[in-house]
Amino acid sequence: MLFRPSGGGDLAVCLVYPNTYPVGMANLGFQAVFEILARHPRVRCERAFLPDRDDPERTVVSLESGRPLRDFEIVAFSVSFETDYLHIVDILTGAGIAPRRDDRHGGPLLLAGGPATFLNPEPIADFFDLFLIGEGEEMVPEFLARYLAARDGGGGREGVLDAAAEVEGAYRPDRYAIGYADDGTIQSVAYRGPGAGVVKRRLVADLDRFTTASKVLAPEAVFGGMYLVEASRGCEWGCRFCAAGYMYRPIRNRSLGVLRAAAEEGLGVRETIGLVGAEMASLPGIAELCEAVTDRGGRPSPSSLKADVISRRLAAALGRSRTQSVTVAPEAGSERMRRVINKNLTEPEILRAADWLVGAGVQAMKLYFMIGLPTETHEDVAAIVALTKKIRARFQHDGRVQRLTLSINPFGPKPWTPLQWEPMEDLKSLKAKIAYLRAEIGRLPNVTCDVESPREAYWATLLSRGDRRVASLLLAIHAAGGDWWSVIRARRHDPAGGVDPDFYVRRSYAFDEILPWDFIDHALHKRFLWVERERAYDERQTMPCDVTTCRVCGAC
Ligand code: SF4
Repeated sequence: MLFRPSGGGDLAVCLVYPNTYPVGMANLGFQAVFEILARHPRVRCERAFLPDRDDPERTVVSLESGRPLRDFEIVAFSVSFETDYLHIVDILTGAGIAPRRDDRHGGPLLLAGGPATFLNPEPIADFFDLFLIGEGEEMVPEFLARYLAARDGGGGREGVLDAAAEVEGAYRPDRYAIGYADDGTIQSVAYRGPGAGVVKRRLVADLDRFTTASKVLAPEAVFGGMYLVEASRGCEWGCRFCAAGYMYRPIRNRSLGVLRAAAEEGLGVRETIGLVGAEMASLPGIAELCEAVTDRGGRPSPSSLKADVISRRLAAALGRSRTQSVTVAPEAGSERMRRVINKNLTEPEILRAADWLVGAGVQAMKLYFMIGLPTETHEDVAAIVALTKKIRARFQHDGRVQRLTLSINPFGPKPWTPLQWEPMEDLKSLKAKIAYLRAEIGRLPNVTCDVESPREAYWATLLSRGDRRVASLLLAIHAAGGDWWSVIRARRHDPAGGVDPDFYVRRSYAFDEILPWDFIDHALHKRFLWVERERAYDERQTMPCDVTTCRVCGAC
């Protein structure tokens, strides 16, 4: 552990990551909240994770002392991905805690936060007593202060909950009653409580005030060989499918001095410094930072690079450091499709980046593509193959083709993006596109294809666009042993089984309907997102953010 926990306190908190230890300990957000809690003088913080599949008992207890979760005063979940929602039910049930709030009478206070919950907490709203919506660095200490003050003053469970709900960003789901129309859409949201019931999600204005980096080194963690440093939050480019580009607006970068200091600390314990952010080539000073890490004998590993912003200097720093693989995300094969998604990226720019990277000595490239985007035609899918062939022709060293890996991902609409209203494409047609790509790419030596299954994308879309009725589906899937596809398949087109999952996945949401996540204030004008959607259909690009002058989306 790279920090000193307070060592004790009278408030016992168990921080849970709803996936296994290696996945959880690779998550910087989880590590950051763990540090905030564990350093607090009055908190005794332990961690818990989803038990391994091969754990014969699959019992859920805290990592540090083996205590059952129900013995803690607060059980707080840090949720980064919607696909972990089912694990929340698994963990609570495994810990002997009723998942539904209404079925619990006493026991620990159940809290949730993390990026999945600030996009849309509604599918798990019936499980938790309180959500903290937004970035936690300032909000979690405020929550603790109010909670402890109310508890010290003798406030019972209701009293501390009322006090905690006053924190800006706190969402108390029991104060909202949702009414549904005959067609299944949300008809009304009745709120009882102080204020108007709009939850303002929290953002930290100055990232330099907090260092978000590996705090616990766990060799078994995914990326366990790296020291991770969060370099930025948000993204200035506004790709229309990407939640990170909207939910974290406006973009905030850590300063070069702070990042150099964090990297320096990391080099004391690890050789590879993972630079984490939505897009790293646009980070001010990125080439200098990578050079500094390389000069100290380290290896910089930026999470993803936008091809047109990769400079010769950055490519040279990566090549010199023996960085083996660089991730670039063209997202679409054709110029037309890239205009639809606002990628602001041309083919010559992609090929130039490939030239510079291979020229500098980088040996492998990972290319991200999406399929099933709105307006996509066969020509757009074929263009993925054509572009890969062109990159492959350039990505050679001494006549030898270097390694290329294509990551192919079906598009799923995400809340708070301009494409949030769009349906996901039919599974059959996605499968046909994947079969075509596998066959074509399979003919290219030294090129491999990683494909996200359309079913997985369907599942993620259902959970990210769902409302409170999805909680019943999660409980049914848990009762069926976790086989989510069997339950979904049985419920598709079966009105007797509750809401048809296709309602959340395959339907175009209407502009004037109440969206499940509308009660959150992300400081983004809904009208702005809709205009961006219209611009997508018109194949018109929008300029990247200029935070000094622009006020268009509402975030600045
Ligand atoms: S107001 Fe303009 S610069 Fe600020 S986040 Fe929105 S689009 Fe970007």
